[in-house]
Amino acid sequence: DRLVAAGADGEDTAVEAALRPKDLHEFVGQEKVREQLDLVLKAARARGATADHVLLSGAPGLGKTTLSMIIAAEMEAPIRITSGPAIQHAGDLAAILSSLQEGEVLFLDEIHRMSRPAEEMLYMAMEDFRVDVIVGKGPGATAIPLELPPFTLVGATTRAGLLPPPLRDRFGFTGHMEFYAPTELERVIHRSAGLLDVAIDTEGAAEIAGRSRGTPRIANRLLRRVRDYAQVKAEGRIDRDIAAAALRVYEVDARGLDRLDRAVLGALLKLFGGGPVGLSTLAVAVGEERETVEEVAEPFLVREGLLARTPRGRVATPAAWAHLGLVPPQHGAK
Ligand code: ATP
Repeated sequence: DRLVAAGADGEDTAVEAALRPKDLHEFVGQEKVREQLDLVLKAARARGATADHVLLSGAPGLGKTTLSMIIAAEMEAPIRITSGPAIQHAGDLAAILSSLQEGEVLFLDEIHRMSRPAEEMLYMAMEDFRVDVIVGKGPGATAIPLELPPFTLVGATTRAGLLPPPLRDRFGFTGHMEFYAPTELERVIHRSAGLLDVAIDTEGAAEIAGRSRGTPRIANRLLRRVRDYAQVKAEGRIDRDIAAAALRVYEVDARGLDRLDRAVLGALLKLFGGGPVGLSTLAVAVGEERETVEEVAEPFLVREGLLARTPRGRVATPAAWAHLGLVPPQHGAK
């Protein structure tokens, strides 16, 4: 339930549909991916062909699903959305593939989490638009080849490096999605505010953008919470002070750290003098599971240059002391 989690929650799912950019021009940032994709799609359209398979890699909430929908829209094709974990058996994949229409876009989120047999079926489907459906078991099993209509697979993964090379190689185009710059998030926020009919000024948007961890999904979520606050306290108008006051209530600080992040950092600084300290010890100190500290709090702290993972344990950087307004102990002091 963290406000600054990059994954989607129930409310996001409902609102995100309304906030999704519908074409490449509306899609903010990611200049490289946008430019490259624009060429891929224009060329395919000019040839009257189905677009090449596209792999999108990047952290959650950066717009992979949105881009896949834009690809379908630009190709004037329908889209089918599924995910790696939803495909347990090769048969599940065969059922989806064989029901695709010609030119359809198949969006496969978390493609690195597909089962092995399904993955192998996908190789052939991507390359030859054909699958072998195995009928029967043991020595009597036979493979029945099934022709598929040409389709465009859009695979999404948090890291392209997690994909087996044979799968990676079958994509005609790979787009690496980066975290967004604060100015880009400001544009996302202004755009969403327009759609949600919320009055926000430049500084208010900048205040929210700075706390959104480089992630449009978080920016949109924080905007909605700030809007609530503004409705109750400021007749719905968002400026810098209102945004800052609202996010103080929700415990999201100026750099986008929340209560958990600050608890981890605070323990590291105040109880362990900035480290090095082992992960388990740190987790006990903040009363959280090891995994929570390691997988939920640390990645962002590391990315922000506030915490380092070293062979001797977790260490705070000078920026961490500065961020929490604390003074590091003097070396050699008694
Ligand atoms: P996940 O992998 O967790 O599903 P995702 O990368 O697919 O995340 P999306 O669902 O596409 O992310 O985007 C999350 C939200 O952020 C959506 O509401 C979308 O409208 C918004 N968004 C993402 N990228 C952009 C962008 N470049 N411009 C404007 N809004 C964006």
